[in-house]
Amino acid sequence: MNRIRNLELNENTIYDIVIIGGGATGLGTALDAASRGYKTLLVEQSDFAKGTSSRSTKLVHGGVRYLAQGNIGLVRHALEERGILQKNAAHLVNKEEFIIPCYNWFSVAKYLTGLTIYDWLAGKYSFGKSKFLSAKETIKQIPGIKAKGLKGAIRYFDGKFDDARLAINIAQTAVEHGATLLTYTKVVGLTKNGDVVTGIDTEDILTGKRLTFKAKVIINATGVFVDDILKMNDPKSKNMVRPSQGVHLVLDRKFLNSESALMIPKTSDGRVLFAVPWHKHLLVGTTDTPLDEHSLEPRALKEEVSFILNTASEYFNQKPTEQDILSVFSGLRPLAAPTKSDGNSTKEISRDHKLIVSAQGLITITGGKWTTYRRMAEETVDLAISHANLKPQACRTKSLQIHGSTESTANSNLDIYGSDKTDIESLTAEHPELNEKLHADFPYKKGEVLWAIRNEMAETVEDILSRRLRVLFIDARAAMEMSRAVASILAKELQADKDWEDKQVDIFNKLASGYIYKPNNKN
Ligand SMILES: Cc1cc2nc3c(=O)[nH]c(=O)nc-3n(C[C@H](O)[C@H](O)[C@H](O)COP(=O)(O)OP(=O)(O)OC[C@H]3O[C@@H](n4cnc5c(N)ncnc54)[C@H](O)[C@@H]3O)c2cc1C
Repeated sequence: MNRIRNLELNENTIYDIVIIGGGATGLGTALDAASRGYKTLLVEQSDFAKGTSSRSTKLVHGGVRYLAQGNIGLVRHALEERGILQKNAAHLVNKEEFIIPCYNWFSVAKYLTGLTIYDWLAGKYSFGKSKFLSAKETIKQIPGIKAKGLKGAIRYFDGKFDDARLAINIAQTAVEHGATLLTYTKVVGLTKNGDVVTGIDTEDILTGKRLTFKAKVIINATGVFVDDILKMNDPKSKNMVRPSQGVHLVLDRKFLNSESALMIPKTSDGRVLFAVPWHKHLLVGTTDTPLDEHSLEPRALKEEVSFILNTASEYFNQKPTEQDILSVFSGLRPLAAPTKSDGNSTKEISRDHKLIVSAQGLITITGGKWTTYRRMAEETVDLAISHANLKPQACRTKSLQIHGSTESTANSNLDIYGSDKTDIESLTAEHPELNEKLHADFPYKKGEVLWAIRNEMAETVEDILSRRLRVLFIDARAAMEMSRAVASILAKELQADKDWEDKQVDIFNKLASGYIYKPNNKN
């Protein structure tokens, strides 16, 4: 995991597989390809999981909502993947209790039936049996829930994870299996031999250096950006994805005061809303707003924030207001666009993934879910093998342990590092100054910053505070307060000067101000 060393690559190497995009899909594909023994390169224009893959609801799930839509196949596969991921990344995927509050007896019958089917579909991968809780038991489980009119609840189990950390751990596993990964390397063009795509032209975003890489097959795993790459191949190609924005708010966990998550099964617009305890805070979301544009930093609309606050207020005893928002972030679902336009609704757009060979030598994979990244990667590499005539090798990821995987003891904030925890503890023990906390309200220590630079390819203050320590997503103001200390460790380690350090702080604080909700500004 060393970017500088990786940049000393030989441009004459012909890779078996080159992957564009370092989110869940691209990283999963790189791991699948490398673990089968293929010479693999992945390029990411920013940091790992900078796009949608750090902005999810943090659920490893079959998708109760898709069950309600009758999409049994999708749910069954996702439940199987949930079980596989829990086994292979035991330090990151935790079993979580979800509570569906019911205010009439019809809902009790309906959700208990639905969740019993959900359990049954999970088969040997079941996380536990769903059951009815009385109103009294429900309030005991979630003290912050609105008690008036409550008949009871259905309790079911699903998985919860830290999305960006899983991305980093998959990246580390891919490197351990021989893959080369380059962050801050943007694909700016495709090289061709006649009609056949033979390589990628890239630009190093940090230095401006141009490099070209050759490959037997190229995989476009760029999420909502897939159409940009497809247009590099054929400017007339039709759009494959329609972005749909999902917003999350982070609140103090006092609002539910519970270890369990709340699932609101039917919002005013017929969707579901989750309130999930996450890093000792409460993550509430999400929305589903069709957009015509995509960006790496999408911003929440005022109506989306109001919708989340209003819906939560219907179910929480204590009503959250705009002033309670510690951080607001948005992600874009790379929903596979339907062939026939469906107007402004994203409801009918398939949640399943799409895998296509769009040109000789160019394969595109998009859609799907974080939960199913492994299965999507397996299908993608299988297709790449047949398409590029690579020597067939069987997929190994079903039982392949992800870097760090170990049973969590859940007694320290370092548990999220899994088996790396002891090395981080040794690092801070050797250098007592690294034992210092970055902020009085958070457990993160300076040693974790140094660890991320040395072992997790973190290059900027944002990489550390957004996707290694997650503070930007939890409390944007606190993240700004930590930025100077983080920049100073980075500058020292990377031998950068004071100007660079100051610039890092400015860039980060500007970005972080977009995560602080300002109702009167365009956020
Ligand atoms: C609001 C929301 C909530 C969700 N919640 C869940 C959930 O709880 N559970 C679940 O299982 N799934 C969830 N999902 C779905 C899941 O997050 C996505 O399916 C998954 O993250 C998509 O990953 P990806 O790799 O395809 O895309 P991305 O993560 O967006 O990765 C694409 C990458 O490609 C890079 N890229 C783009 N163009 C270039 C270029 N020219 N050169 C180099 N790199 C490039 C981008 O920088 C980006 O990092 C959610 C999605 C959203 C939006």
